[in-house]
Amino acid sequence: MSVSQLARSIKASATLKLNETAAKLREKGEPVIHLGGGEPKSKAPLDAVLNCATQLNTGEIRYAPADGLPALKKAILRYTEENYGRLLAPPNVIVSSGAKQSIMTLLYAILEPKDEVVFPAPYWVSYPEMVKLAGGVPVAVTPEDGTFVPTVPDIADKVGSYTKAIVLNSPNNPSGIMYPADFVAEMVEFCEKKNLWLVMDDLYNRLVFDGQKAPNPYDYAKQPVEQSKLVVVQGVSKMYAMTGFRIGWALANREVIEAMANIQGHQTSGPVTVSQWAAIGALSGVQTAIESLRLTLENQRNVMVERLRTIPGLQVTKPNGTFYCFPDFSAYQKDSVKLAEFLLDRVRVVTVPGKEFGMDGHLRLSYCGTIKEIMDGVERIKWALDPNAPNELFLGDRKLVRDWA
Ligand code: PMP
Repeated sequence: MSVSQLARSIKASATLKLNETAAKLREKGEPVIHLGGGEPKSKAPLDAVLNCATQLNTGEIRYAPADGLPALKKAILRYTEENYGRLLAPPNVIVSSGAKQSIMTLLYAILEPKDEVVFPAPYWVSYPEMVKLAGGVPVAVTPEDGTFVPTVPDIADKVGSYTKAIVLNSPNNPSGIMYPADFVAEMVEFCEKKNLWLVMDDLYNRLVFDGQKAPNPYDYAKQPVEQSKLVVVQGVSKMYAMTGFRIGWALANREVIEAMANIQGHQTSGPVTVSQWAAIGALSGVQTAIESLRLTLENQRNVMVERLRTIPGLQVTKPNGTFYCFPDFSAYQKDSVKLAEFLLDRVRVVTVPGKEFGMDGHLRLSYCGTIKEIMDGVERIKWALDPNAPNELFLGDRKLVRDWA
């Protein structure tokens, strides 16, 4: 059997693959701790469930328009006005099957073959593959100063005549770091001046800690919406803990939204109708779920960071948001794939290798599980790595003896 060159150039999603391995081990009764996950554990808001169930009960579940139900667009516009202070119109919104599809469809809509898309490392695993799928060339920028915060000169250095777009994800998956307002402001100005698309992947912008607030890109945009190449990507997956509903959206000028709708129309048609009704419920209902999730995650972040800092030699940058932490383990092992395999093999802890996010030597650890999972998971990692930790560890009733240096 032969698959296309394009298919061969696309890597499997590392996170999905890890989920499968962990599920298989769990099925066998192995005491796996999953610190590799990318979804909050809280329930979907009641308003989302009820609104969805009401529609489902009618038994009449029909196609939705390719760009989303008008009622959901209306709810998104209201949300955008409230949370971004920007009044847009229905033709400026496309609803997709997850933010993932919004980004993918956007790339199809704007890239010519070999156009380059620039994004800072560490980056979300899917960006390079999505750019390649759309015929473009991914260009990752690693911050010069060894931090997770890029600077405008770092990015400007990689921008050339083939650059079509810049993608920023802040707070960032996998580092949990939020880019400073100055940086966002300068990037908006830079892209307006250079006539580049600026995609703000804002999926985690409500899950921010320590009393901070994510910078709002619209605050710095000078061009009117219809002339602007600023695209804001959002969704219900993370902030409302609704990953399985698969609803995300993009906000942009109407020309590109129309092009995206045409593409989506031939690709998947409109997103699942009952999921859209769930999203309407989430956006229009009681808004306490986000704050309660945010508080839970902040507490879990504190526990994880505090525990990780007891492991000698680990470089831990405290996340400002999301539910990920991205410590540097290179004092122990520079090859993050080997390290993740070692931890799964020896102590049954699932982590995601930093290599997948464009930064080897690091592991992505999620703190969206329970406090117990976080504490036990980090304890196991510490035990596996720190030669000064006691020689034995109990996983349930199984005694492990460290026989490696
Ligand atoms: N962007 C980032 C940075 C993400 O972490 C994710 C989910 N892991 C997505 C986009 C896609 O989210 P969804 O398709 O579930 O809306």
